[in-house]
Amino acid sequence: MLLHIGLDDTDSPRGGCTTYIAALLVERLQELGAKFIDYPNLVRLNPNVPWKTRGNGAVCLRVECDPALEGAIKEVVVDAVESHAEFDCENTNPGIVFHTGAVPEPLGRFACRVIQGVVSREDAEGLIEGYCASAIGYKNMRGIIGALAAVGERLEGDHAYEFLAYRTPENRGMPRRLDVASVMEMDEATRGETFNNFDPEARRPLIAPHGPDPVLFGVRGESAEAVYRAGTMIRAEEPFERWVIFRTNQGTDAHLRRTSKISDLKPYNPAIVAGEVAAHPRTIKGGHVIFPLRDETGEIDCAAYEPTGRFRDIARRLIPGDRVRAYGGIRSDGAGRRTLNLEKMEVLHLAPDIRLANPLCPKCGGGMESMGRGQGYRCRRCGLRDRNLRKRSIQMERKLTPGLYLPPPRSQRHLTKPLQRYGKEKSRAPDGLFEPWHWP
Ligand code: ATP
Repeated sequence: MLLHIGLDDTDSPRGGCTTYIAALLVERLQELGAKFIDYPNLVRLNPNVPWKTRGNGAVCLRVECDPALEGAIKEVVVDAVESHAEFDCENTNPGIVFHTGAVPEPLGRFACRVIQGVVSREDAEGLIEGYCASAIGYKNMRGIIGALAAVGERLEGDHAYEFLAYRTPENRGMPRRLDVASVMEMDEATRGETFNNFDPEARRPLIAPHGPDPVLFGVRGESAEAVYRAGTMIRAEEPFERWVIFRTNQGTDAHLRRTSKISDLKPYNPAIVAGEVAAHPRTIKGGHVIFPLRDETGEIDCAAYEPTGRFRDIARRLIPGDRVRAYGGIRSDGAGRRTLNLEKMEVLHLAPDIRLANPLCPKCGGGMESMGRGQGYRCRRCGLRDRNLRKRSIQMERKLTPGLYLPPPRSQRHLTKPLQRYGKEKSRAPDGLFEPWHWP
């Protein structure tokens, strides 16, 4: 029989990681005799939901097993979650979903909604009742939403891979010591096949997180072979407890699929909007750059926040009349004012930048200065005075070209498709599993 096991919401800012529980289960379920029919799936959900811990990730394990094993497998899964989830954290509400057989279409559609919008727990419960063998929700049970979405998202379209290495318990919470030279060598050797290993602007490796979770590092790439090669090139001054290759929707823009009109934009939803820049961008306290975007239905502020680094320079070069397509998440302040937090931006059309300047002298061609309001102009070079001259308009050079612009990798969302993935989109799941895809 085919068994899909969805897991979510097991970690807290103080520690834990749902992918780590999945990695433990890879070893335990295989010991029991289950056969994995896919790499563990790491499914990133809507990055704008306010109750996520970090990256809003959920996991699904898909195995084939003897029906006699079903009970034992479920017991091992429940035991792993109960012994490793951070139950003490108020915001941790673990969920486990078991589904047997093929994944029905409505679960796939549900997953799309969880990745691209906001759903309620009741939506998940209705589907679990209609289609699933069983689900276990702890505390406020919110985790069943992500767990069910992970089951439903088969990653049959575009996808990527991540090699995730985990730390031994005694090292967790201590600074991670990776050999930066080995990260550079890996980046060089796998260029085009892995992505977001380094931030070019900040000149620092991005593969290691900084928190207390058990992840030592993760390398993302286009194939299981590539991330295996990359992951095994990294030298660390601490041992790996285990590693697993996940198949994932990271780096695919799976959340950014729907184009909306400005009047339809809802808080916490990802959005794509095309419109016209309505006023000059302004830089506010903290270094954030804001500009209003308008379409025929309304206006919304777009924000390039300080951590997006030089991406803000692109936003600052916009002028009223420019046409852009903005991609990002919608936030709302307490007063209901919405902002689109920019994740990427496509400059579609540049308006001419026309400025008014003092006229040139009709006699000698020199620069003129105003003699006062309505008083005409005087030539600075030959002294000619003329009351009838008017300002002339000049077209300024635009220091911006149409095209797609992204913030630097360090401030990209897990789901954001980086520039180097454009043109590499996949349209089907892999046929088999590359070996080795996990250790031990
Ligand atoms: P990490 O990435 O470190 O594993 P996390 O950022 O994934 O942590 P969770 O602790 O999983 O965060 O919390 C997200 C919670 O929000 C889960 O309970 C999940 O079921 C729920 N959730 C996720 N996406 C949506 C959505 N689109 N609508 C409603 N609830 C959601």
